[in-house]
Amino acid sequence: MRQVRPRTEGWQQKKDAEGRPLLQFASPKRGKPPVHLADLTPEERVAKVKDLGLPGFRAKQLEKHYFQHWTHDPAAMTDLPASGREEFVHGMLPPLLTEVRRLETDRGDTIKFLWKLHDGALVESVLMRYPGRITLCVSSQAGCGMNCPFCATGQAGLTRNMSAAEIIEQIVRANRLIADGGLGGKKRDDHSAERVSNIVFMGMGEPLANYARVMQAVRVMTDKEHGLGMSARGITVSTVGLVPAITKLANEDIPVTFALSLHAPDDTLRDELIPVNSRWKVDEALDAARAYFDKTGRRVSIEYALIKDMNDHAWRADLLADKLNARGRGWVHVNPIPLNPTPGSVWTASEVSVQNEFVRRLNDAGIPTTLRDTRGKEIDGACGQLVATTEDEAAAAATPNED
Ligand code: SAH
Repeated sequence: MRQVRPRTEGWQQKKDAEGRPLLQFASPKRGKPPVHLADLTPEERVAKVKDLGLPGFRAKQLEKHYFQHWTHDPAAMTDLPASGREEFVHGMLPPLLTEVRRLETDRGDTIKFLWKLHDGALVESVLMRYPGRITLCVSSQAGCGMNCPFCATGQAGLTRNMSAAEIIEQIVRANRLIADGGLGGKKRDDHSAERVSNIVFMGMGEPLANYARVMQAVRVMTDKEHGLGMSARGITVSTVGLVPAITKLANEDIPVTFALSLHAPDDTLRDELIPVNSRWKVDEALDAARAYFDKTGRRVSIEYALIKDMNDHAWRADLLADKLNARGRGWVHVNPIPLNPTPGSVWTASEVSVQNEFVRRLNDAGIPTTLRDTRGKEIDGACGQLVATTEDEAAAAATPNED
């Protein structure tokens, strides 16, 4: 049986003092993005409006413009007093994202956005229309500190945490584009709402390493009165396995969908493939995932990128099934993803027959398993492919910040 080991070619994985893959949990210090309505609680918004010299009820009007009409254009806000309007709106809704590039594929129903943040950091989001739903894959950090060798985002390390409003603004901008008819592929018999219905935290970054801001963003997404009013079940938080944060998430009163990026059922391989496995082992991560189900009643999802001769062996499918079944029935499903190519990667996706056998074994063992349909490979917008290229950097340098 062939066993390919994780190694990298064409780029160097950063190492810590002990020679292990570097893990970055803390966000490097950079200038903070301006505070925005979406960073604040409803009470704090009212206080800030008053600080700016207006009566508190103006906060509600701004919330409506921003979260329901997806605009931060003062000219559109004719219900606000004309005098001082621009300064006021700018103070509450400062510009956060400048669109640098937009790439489309699948006849216009998949769009990748490249955004420049106020300090020049670059992030991406991917918008996808499916029958009956529209999903946005959002970034939660510029770069990522988890250093997984098969994921392009980790190669450059962590630039910084994103603010809650920088996360929310990705959705607002996508909703605006959809409202303007910019997302193709709508079928005539599709009567679902024309706005983002599902969020996956599967863009750049490790969401649970930016816990407080991600949770503030989730609260704004789900708040019906003061936010976007989305359903929590339509929001998926995906993690490489930060166990204490998984436990914390389970204790929040927001039943989001939880996904664990496992990729190997044995510590021997996972230690090499997922650097954070040096902190929290396979069994601990699975116990935390099971506890998430107990607490929330939400079925959890296990992500597994199928890599040829690395983690796709039949015995690993069986071991995974055993470990999941040992923790009970009906609490989990498995989502294998054929590996997407990344620059400098020496690995490839599994053969189709091997992939099918992997899926079959799990299903036969009673674990619902469905292959993830991956989108956006042609525009480097698929899982694990999000990274700012030199072309992106050049385009960003040539784009002035929006105001
Ligand atoms: N940091 C989070 C979320 C971002 S990645 C996490 O690790 O879960 C979203 C998913 O894409 C993860 O399951 C990740 O392991 C997977 N992924 C990363 N690189 C990939 C690649 N090259 N091909 C397929 N999936 C990949």
